[in-house]
Amino acid sequence: MSGNAPLDRLRAQRMLEQLESLQGRGTELVSVYIPPGKAVSEAMNDLRNEWGTAVNIKSKTTRKNVQDALSKVMERLKLFKFIPPTGLAIFAGNIASNQLGVGDMQTFVIIPPEPITIYYYRCEHQFMLDPLFNMLSAKDVYGLVVIDSKDATFGLLKGSRTEIIKQYTSGVQGKTRAGGQSSRRYERLRDMHLNEWYIRLGNYFTEHFRNLPGLKGIIVGGPGPTKEDFLNGNYLHYELKDKILAQVDTGYTGPEGIKEMVNRSRELMKDARYFEERKNVQEFLKHLGEDDGLATYGEQEIFQALKEMNIQLLLISEEVRRTLYRLKCKSCGRIENRVVDNDKVADFDANLSSVKCQKCGGDVEVLDKNELIEALIEMAEKSNTRSELISGNTEEGEMLLRSYGGFAAITIYRSY
Ligand SMILES: [Zn+2]
Repeated sequence: MSGNAPLDRLRAQRMLEQLESLQGRGTELVSVYIPPGKAVSEAMNDLRNEWGTAVNIKSKTTRKNVQDALSKVMERLKLFKFIPPTGLAIFAGNIASNQLGVGDMQTFVIIPPEPITIYYYRCEHQFMLDPLFNMLSAKDVYGLVVIDSKDATFGLLKGSRTEIIKQYTSGVQGKTRAGGQSSRRYERLRDMHLNEWYIRLGNYFTEHFRNLPGLKGIIVGGPGPTKEDFLNGNYLHYELKDKILAQVDTGYTGPEGIKEMVNRSRELMKDARYFEERKNVQEFLKHLGEDDGLATYGEQEIFQALKEMNIQLLLISEEVRRTLYRLKCKSCGRIENRVVDNDKVADFDANLSSVKCQKCGGDVEVLDKNELIEALIEMAEKSNTRSELISGNTEEGEMLLRSYGGFAAITIYRSY
């Protein structure tokens, strides 16, 4: 995916949610996933076979709808000379509407953001979207580290896939000394070696994680107190300190320990997606609470701050469903922003003649209209302002939407 990553993700998410909401009357919605490398002619053959098999469907309506859907899929597939590098997903079916007996044949073609690995064909009540939903969440990456005084294993979790990056050994001796050594001297040497080990570990963390795209957080595990000693010491780059999600006790180190840690932190992983969102909203609330003049919210305030390039962090609730109109007065030429709830857009358009210029009362024309979220992110991009999308899945995200209208920002300098 190119361009603005969070925006691409939001668009993809919205589209999948829309597809997910569609239902067939019978088991007649067709989903086809074709992996890269498969010849178009071969995929066409498979689909022709499915079309033939569909003859056996007992219900006449369902049979007709499945075969029509398959024909639509083949029509679309024919437009491709070859399967794109990440594969192809095609969905078609007669979408059930409220009116009895009236359906609507619809076709959707999606080029997946990541490669599809298997071919499959499904015919169900709904479109089969799990592989695409999984790809969206697979964009999140978690760092995994298990350490003790002897070794360390670094890994990554991408979606549901765990991958070991590298293993290191410390060379630090065990707690029990060999006979003949002075115990105090032994302890002192061991502490020194441990300290060196922690410094090395800190460097490995930096090397593997500091510039890793999509890193959402790091989970550190291991048996015993080594991980705490390491994390509590000043060994970790400050940017990475903020990324530590949790410490997990494990019985093992090495790849076994990584596996154990992932299993133990399933719940945590589920929450981890929201960790950053929560942190960002809390940051805003902190400024608001301290009344330092750096917290602002509300559409007009955000527009103003964006215009003044006075935003260090812009928070946008994904749940906002509003449209931004740019209106131009036909009499005095004044240009004005107007925000309308999405479910009132049709009304607004129909009654545009009753919308008047706020300055001279003249008639207005629509210059353009846009999803408010997209418009704001684009504005932010133009001024190099950092913006974050916040879901409604956390208390903080809910608060952003309900109490602050869905938009909030931390400004660079006081604006009052
Ligand atoms: Zn006017």
